[in-house]
Amino acid sequence: MSARFDVDTARKDFPILSKPVRGRRLVYLDSAGSAQKPRHVIDSVRDVYENDYANVHRGLHYLSERASARYEEARETVRAFINAPEQHEVVFTGGTTEAINLVAWSYGRSVLGPGDEVLITCAEHHSNIVPWHLVREQTGCVVKAVPVQDDGTFRLEDFARLITERTRVVSCFHVSNVLGTVLPLRDIARLAHAQGAVVVVDGAQGIVHLPVDVQELEVDFYAFSGHKLYGPSGIGVLWGRAELLEAMPPWQGGGGMIDTVTLSATTWADLPDKFEAGTPPIAQAIGLAAAIDYVSDIGIDAIARHEQEVLLYATQRLASVPGLSLVGTAAGKASVVSFVMDCAHPHDVSTIIDQYGVAVRAGHHCAQPLMDRFELSSTARASLALYNTTEDIDILVESLEKVREIFQ
Ligand code: PMP
Repeated sequence: MSARFDVDTARKDFPILSKPVRGRRLVYLDSAGSAQKPRHVIDSVRDVYENDYANVHRGLHYLSERASARYEEARETVRAFINAPEQHEVVFTGGTTEAINLVAWSYGRSVLGPGDEVLITCAEHHSNIVPWHLVREQTGCVVKAVPVQDDGTFRLEDFARLITERTRVVSCFHVSNVLGTVLPLRDIARLAHAQGAVVVVDGAQGIVHLPVDVQELEVDFYAFSGHKLYGPSGIGVLWGRAELLEAMPPWQGGGGMIDTVTLSATTWADLPDKFEAGTPPIAQAIGLAAAIDYVSDIGIDAIARHEQEVLLYATQRLASVPGLSLVGTAAGKASVVSFVMDCAHPHDVSTIIDQYGVAVRAGHHCAQPLMDRFELSSTARASLALYNTTEDIDILVESLEKVREIFQ
């Protein structure tokens, strides 16, 4: 792991960053939406299709064996990256959304009954709210939410108060995709475990900005997507403790997840196949492993340090823009910066600065309950990745000045 990180060198690894947008330098500040891909990932996906592609696990021919081996090597790469105890605890999914649905449908539906509680936070992405609402309809469970403070922090006392002997599941983000707030997962896990509840983590943003060691975090499930971690879309991961995954029923049926099938009955395959029905995203899993290798090569700590420097610069520069308010200023936050301007709607902000090559996300960020809490319909969001520079922030701030000129 290298301690020195040179952003200019790293930027050259991302072909898209050198392509002008609207005749200008691309300032890509929507990595929380989806990150750009380094050549290493692009090449690895092409390499699978050019050299080692067939369906996995089903054929005894050369290419199927090659593809299967690479697919399983990818699983090991993920296991090592999150320090999971066992390779078979790593389930490939289509993304974070599918991973959380897997837990909700399989674990949730088996353990939850009327009056049992699922605790989320009011800042969850819809993909960590809606699956629990759907399960609520089937089980009669109750979904409660931990409130957020005005600055975007969450108080551990609120978790302690809301986790009760009725709580069966605590399902929360690691890093908020709107506020950037980082939750103290280990403390939350200890509170949950003391009441016999399990902890499910939406790690869609956490995996990108923080070193993740699932054993150190003491959580029970951790979900993330490949596409935010510089990997392909269509691939994600659910890690779960083996004893939980083993006891859980499959949630989708099909090829690859069975042991035997007769016309009257099915028995399941062992982990992780039990949860991987159908043809999996083969090249995408291998591409995700390439992304993890790329990130690990630079070092997630070095990436985090760099992002924190740019975040500090961005926070200071944006604070100097008249009429601009930051939404989410928790101490120790990750590099996601939401803001609103008093002169223009976030959609107008985003559309105007796009003319200057600046890509930010504007909207509710799939977090409508959080928007309601702050009495906002939407925010603009600049989210930083390893390839962003202080120059990107300067261009963002200059383009926001143009917004002010237009609307004032
Ligand atoms: N949770 C969070 C915190 C996210 O930011 C996102 C993506 N915006 C998701 C879940 C959903 O991820 P995906 O669409 O890759 O399944």
